[in-house]
Amino acid sequence: MRYLSTRGGLEPACFSDILLGGLAPDGGLVVPERYPRVDHATLALWRTLDYPSLAFEVLKDYATDLPPDDLRRLLAQTYTAEVFGSPEITPVLSLGNDLHLLRLSNGPTLAFKDVAMQLLGRLFEYVLARDGSELNILGATSGDTGSAAEYAMRGKRGIRVFMLSPNGRMSTFQRAQMYSLRDPNIFNLAVNGVFDDCQDMVKSVSADLAFKSRYQIGTVNSINWARVLAQVVYYFRGYFSVATEIGQPVSFCVPSGNFGNVLAGHIARMMGLPIHRLVVATNENDVLDEFFRTGRYRARATAETRQTSSPSMDISKASNFERFIFDLLMRDGGRVSSLWRALQEHGEFDLGADEAFGRIAGYGFLSGRSTHANRLDTIRRFDREHGLVVDPHTADGLFVAQSHREPGVPMVCLETALPVKFAETIREALGREPQCPPGFEGIEELGQRYTVMPPDVAQLKRYVAARCPGR
Ligand SMILES: *Cc1c(COP(=O)(O)O)cnc(C)c1O
Repeated sequence: MRYLSTRGGLEPACFSDILLGGLAPDGGLVVPERYPRVDHATLALWRTLDYPSLAFEVLKDYATDLPPDDLRRLLAQTYTAEVFGSPEITPVLSLGNDLHLLRLSNGPTLAFKDVAMQLLGRLFEYVLARDGSELNILGATSGDTGSAAEYAMRGKRGIRVFMLSPNGRMSTFQRAQMYSLRDPNIFNLAVNGVFDDCQDMVKSVSADLAFKSRYQIGTVNSINWARVLAQVVYYFRGYFSVATEIGQPVSFCVPSGNFGNVLAGHIARMMGLPIHRLVVATNENDVLDEFFRTGRYRARATAETRQTSSPSMDISKASNFERFIFDLLMRDGGRVSSLWRALQEHGEFDLGADEAFGRIAGYGFLSGRSTHANRLDTIRRFDREHGLVVDPHTADGLFVAQSHREPGVPMVCLETALPVKFAETIREALGREPQCPPGFEGIEELGQRYTVMPPDVAQLKRYVAARCPGR
């Protein structure tokens, strides 16, 4: 399998070449040259596999330059009951009436991002040891990515993590998870700005190719292809858990921010998984909902990005979205380039009148938006009706899903985090503390270690350079 850029400018590269990055040299995102197709007979076989074996089947045609035995071993080491709480790894909880919750949040940091990041940690370690090189990971997080990355990379040889987070904009629990880490290879940078400032800083550094190469900079942001790929697996697993027979249409609803999670669903669908609808759920930062309703993609200014009670979805532009648009435009890199130039110059593009937009329905996409009040109501309703406390992001998904239910079509909502990470909102909704899973008690009381920084790229580069050997 070769990888290309969404803007057409990358020499074809293989999985190992793109594993540590995500952004192509021409500013586009790397994508596989095609999606391997899976027929119903193969799906029937895959249905019987345990999680690591299923993951192997999904990944092997994308990571063709890794020896299959090595890939199999890395997957078996990653997806264990010890790390993810159960041998199912991503179990499904059925709530009755064809509504299901795909539980993705039982990894080390209690959010779905662990599912991909734990694998990334193994893959990075493997290729770095193989190539005798080092990696300095530069990332931006609004909370969950950073902790998932740090818990996947802590103590790993040859890897340092520099994680930018918006100062004061994460939950107490998220801050505690990240900032309490003591591992000498983990550096937390609290940026005085919003998440998009952090993401822009990472992008600027990545765009400085000389710096990037000298300090062996890589990312683990949601644009990392291997992360997206690892997430494709649980759409298959979730489908198999709820479909009574292969071929039955099943819909998924996905709380979305940077469009990484739902993009994985799109890829599973392109591979032939019978997904009926992919419902994109946003919060008040509804740039994606606006696009799927109207065809207008209007990136918001930083000042327009609202701080909400589902903060991991507080984005003004969705970094993975370009990969979907590339498919929507029949993989025309030239057109993607010119749309993203328009986005740069005018802050928006509009496909509303374009024939491409007419094809959206054919890709199964629908969308909806949830507000603080919807979120609180939904948390209360699921507590009352199911005795289930969901986190605010999952609540956004459950809320949006209900307006897209179709008789006889199972709806699988993706659980993206556990409620303990967002205790303030749970208290507001229910008047009580969320349950703390075993092993996480008292984490907020631990000492914290982080550096505050303005949104200044030059300062960030100096900080990184001072802590890396460079070549
Ligand atoms: C990251 C995150 C999201 C958004 O996922 P994307 O892949 O960026 O769309 C939603 N909910 C939670 C809890 C998250 O951590």
